Amino acid sequence: MATTLSGKDIAKKVNDELLVEIDKLCDLGVTPGLTVVLVGDDEASQIYVRNKAKACEALGIESNVVRLSRYISQSELIEVIKELNADNAVDGILVQLPLPNHIDPDAVLEAIDPKKDVDGFHALNAGRLMQGVDTFEACTPKGIMRMLKESGVKLRGANAVVVGRSNIVGKPIAMMLLKADCTVTVCHSKTRDLSSYTKNADVLVVATGIPNFIKGDMIKPGAVVIDVGMDHDENGKLCGDVEFESAEKVAGFITPVPGGVGPMTIAMLMSNTVQAAKQHANIK
Ligand code: NAP
Repeated sequence: MATTLSGKDIAKKVNDELLVEIDKLCDLGVTPGLTVVLVGDDEASQIYVRNKAKACEALGIESNVVRLSRYISQSELIEVIKELNADNAVDGILVQLPLPNHIDPDAVLEAIDPKKDVDGFHALNAGRLMQGVDTFEACTPKGIMRMLKESGVKLRGANAVVVGRSNIVGKPIAMMLLKADCTVTVCHSKTRDLSSYTKNADVLVVATGIPNFIKGDMIKPGAVVIDVGMDHDENGKLCGDVEFESAEKVAGFITPVPGGVGPMTIAMLMSNTVQAAKQHANIK
């Protein structure tokens, strides 16, 4: 039976560390500040934004939400971002995705000052990650790396398989695992015989958005299984991309949904905001 890797518990540990750092910053007269830009009234986005604001509040990070109409033009939105770039009180800027269809998300993300890009989605930060240079790292993969560290699993030389190649999860986690000396394979929707790869994975990261997609018989005994999925099953119940019941019988470690990767993503956003504030104030 697998050991459950609780993202909730590890996120609490991260937050406790951040509280100490934020206290020290406050003593120096620096209060980290995060501004979230929310376009439109998508219900899920509203919940995510509320959760981010709550997390800021719990840590003493100043948070501000800029709410904009879903009819705003791309150029008007980019103007708002330029103003936030120039605002000295703002350390981190996050544009909540998805944006309405008439707006190109890449153009908007590129408009964010890379020094305030706490989501790590700007091409400059993504490029730095690819080069293995320290930078703002995307929060979900950064959180996964912290979970792997906490599990004590040896990454050097391990076979890591990532299922999914999105810019926000699949590609950056592949780069981070490579930096940690794993041998990395990235699978996607056109991969032939997926289980021949997943069965060979010492570390398996799944980010497809397909409910209960990876079953126990696709997993190597003893593997570390990280389930990024936030899906709903046929009964509308929240579930992951990995079928937990069959997978936990085979894996060595497994992350649950909910309570796995999700809380780590928010904790890493807080961590990136503190990092942005320190850089902004020239504090090591
Ligand atoms: P995405 O952009 O939709 O990407 C999905 C990836 O899965 C694509 O690369 C796709 O391949 C691949 N895929 C689709 N069908 C496949 C198949 N049959 N076999 C192998 N690969 C397949 O998704 P995402 O944004 O990375 O998100 C993935 C999941 O993670 C979602 O459930 C999302 O809600 C969740 N998520 C959770 C958090 C968190 O904090 N917990 C954060 C981000 C995302 P192609 O490229 O070939 O299409």
